[in-house]
Amino acid sequence: MESNGEIRIGFYVCHCGSNIGRVVDVPRVADTMSKMPGVVVSRDYKYMCSEPGQALVEQDIKDHRLNRVVVASCSPLLHEKTFRTAVGRAGLNPFYFQMVNIREHVSWVHEDSMEATEKAIALSRAAIHRVVYHRPLETRRVDIKSSVLIVGGGIAGIHSALKLADAGVKVYLVEREMTIGGHMAKFDKTFPTMDCAACILTPKMAQVREHPNITLWTNSEVTGLDGHVGSFKATVVRHPRYVKEDLCVGCLDCIEGCVVRTSDGRSSMISVDAFRKSRSDSNGATPKVAVTKLPNEFDEGLSTRKPVYIPFPQAVPQIVAVDPNSCLQIKTGKCKQTCVERCERDAFDFTQTDTTEEIEVGAIIVATGFKTFDPHRIPEYHYNDYEEVYTALEVERMVNASGPTGGHIEMNNGQRPKSVGIVHCVGSRDFHYNRWCSRVCCMYSLKLAHLIREHTGAEIYNCYIDMRCPGKGYEEFYDRLLAEGVHFIRGRVAEILDWPMSKAEEGKLVLRVEDTLAGFVRRVPVDMVVLSTGLEPRADSEDVRRLFGISCSTGGFFLEKHPKLAPVETTSDGVYLAGCCQGPKDIPDTVAQAGAAAAEALALISRGYIEMEPNTASIDEEECSGCKSCIGLCPYNAIHFDEEKNVAVIDETLCKGCGTCVAACPSGSIKQNLFEDDQIFAEIEEVLAHV
Ligand SMILES: Cc1cc2nc3c(=O)[nH]c(=O)nc-3n(C[C@H](O)[C@H](O)[C@H](O)COP(=O)(O)OP(=O)(O)OC[C@H]3O[C@@H](n4cnc5c(N)ncnc54)[C@H](O)[C@@H]3O)c2cc1C
Ligand code: SF4
Ligand code: SF4
Repeated sequence: MESNGEIRIGFYVCHCGSNIGRVVDVPRVADTMSKMPGVVVSRDYKYMCSEPGQALVEQDIKDHRLNRVVVASCSPLLHEKTFRTAVGRAGLNPFYFQMVNIREHVSWVHEDSMEATEKAIALSRAAIHRVVYHRPLETRRVDIKSSVLIVGGGIAGIHSALKLADAGVKVYLVEREMTIGGHMAKFDKTFPTMDCAACILTPKMAQVREHPNITLWTNSEVTGLDGHVGSFKATVVRHPRYVKEDLCVGCLDCIEGCVVRTSDGRSSMISVDAFRKSRSDSNGATPKVAVTKLPNEFDEGLSTRKPVYIPFPQAVPQIVAVDPNSCLQIKTGKCKQTCVERCERDAFDFTQTDTTEEIEVGAIIVATGFKTFDPHRIPEYHYNDYEEVYTALEVERMVNASGPTGGHIEMNNGQRPKSVGIVHCVGSRDFHYNRWCSRVCCMYSLKLAHLIREHTGAEIYNCYIDMRCPGKGYEEFYDRLLAEGVHFIRGRVAEILDWPMSKAEEGKLVLRVEDTLAGFVRRVPVDMVVLSTGLEPRADSEDVRRLFGISCSTGGFFLEKHPKLAPVETTSDGVYLAGCCQGPKDIPDTVAQAGAAAAEALALISRGYIEMEPNTASIDEEECSGCKSCIGLCPYNAIHFDEEKNVAVIDETLCKGCGTCVAACPSGSIKQNLFEDDQIFAEIEEVLAHV
């Protein structure tokens, strides 16, 4: 103990404006603590976290030779670091500090002032007793690798990658699909400016490919992660394309050569032709008669593709890929391999298998995006039962000039619809499916209403619950749609029917909707229905969450460390979030967040080192019985087993001090800095002493 063994405690209690002061009798807490043994100074202050509040602590440490400090205020998550730093600035070891949470644990959860004050006093007393047993701890400095792994190559991943690469950081961008671009690559126009999505996105995609600081791995996934902030070791598995990436120039001759022919009901649904037309070196060759149906995933299954394909004309990289599930050669070994014959560059290699890359990075940005709600889950909407019910993403493809219909909105019979119903909030704001508002559906519904009207001149009926247009220029866009004559009906669509009750409904689909403004149930006959499906976490988000040691909020989107103070950080140090994997958002918000994630990663890396928290656990080798109970329980994989010594060993750089192993060890051989037995018992005894 410092100061000749004499304990000299400074106690500070915060009003937190009226957050604490409204319920807790703060001066009484300070007064009571001033009488505790060892307390030299006891003060209350309006905002302890403010600069004057911190200065008060620092000055007292110097003036009163304090060697212990207790602050009763808000949550340690918010301000433990603030006060530890202040204590450190005054020359005292920062771990001689203890914080008491009398906001979340007291004033926010109790109404009775008397009882709340008693509880605040009991918790403060316990902290004062505990801090006596604190020992000085030292933070450790760990070097940081100047490279970043970005997982997911949608607009979020692309933007973060370019920002970091431009700042001189080495970036590994890992994308699961054959091309980067994510959902945005499927759109024709973007709300509210209606600017061309490809004009914004494709130059950025090309920059990613060309940037000397970016290594782009498509058709790849991160399968393993070790290490810690500053020095993560990631395993990336690269799945085979069956085409040598350095040889393929994307001439597409092989696609035409493939013996498998595609077919589809829509005459205008073309694949190679659409690719060729959209490219400057187009020669306009049309593929031969089609015989097989392989849904083109990029076109949401509205067109077909061959076993050898490229997802879309501007795909990055411009390299074809062979689908092993449909390629005759890979599946049966019996194909003429006309694709190989056609390839002048000898780029095919059917012997390719998975390859593994091991990389070391200082930080990670997770930008894995979202999936759209599956409308099959709402049987009343008859998606796939009725031919003319489409999802918004399907219509996004249809309206796209390089999409399955060459930009025409047409029904299965090839005709233009004369009336279209757009159903908002499909799977969103609904207790049966997803409670949250998907934030972009109102706006993309308006966008599609505008585009469909522009392409077909059809009457458009938008059925909405509330119109949510909370962005720059968004409300104005809604006004524009009103002026364009789009009909808006306020009410959730109950069902979509195909049986007529009048002449006007014959041969039509009917939206049955309660018009909550007019106060009656409407039947709206239309030729085509667009379901504005909501945004959901991706199906594999649980695996991704586990791999990167991050948490999920209710609903399953990844959880930020703090919604206001650390919106792109996670509870895993050095792992950041960008884009819709954190929650539904539009492209401007995604790009802003991706920039913020890049800035956070850059700030971390450019420091060159990181200070690791010392409140880690350690195992007493003499006591460990080698039962291995702790190993599987550690959520951060920080414990391994030393077979030679027959004991468990904790890697301090990985340990986050969560305490799980301490509680689980049957032999009591694990101890944790800052949560040692004498400290915890002192705290408990003092709380119980006054019960
Ligand atoms: C129908 C529709 C229309 C829209 N229209 C507009 C509009 O006009 N304007 C607007 O501002 N917003 C619009 N949006 C919203 C827009 O799509 C999103 O804001 C944007 O796509 C979010 O980008 P992202 O990078 O976060 O996610 P995504 O676009 O989903 O990209 C994520 C990427 O990560 C990859 N990935 C996922 N998991 C892994 C993994 N484990 N490993 C490697 N890679 C992985 C995916 O393959 C994908 O490429 C629309 C949304 C929808 C559904
Ligand atoms: S080997 Fe596969 S990709 Fe090539 S021609 Fe045969 S089926 Fe088509
Ligand atoms: S639980 Fe305890 S005794 Fe068992 S291996 Fe872990 S440290 Fe050793």
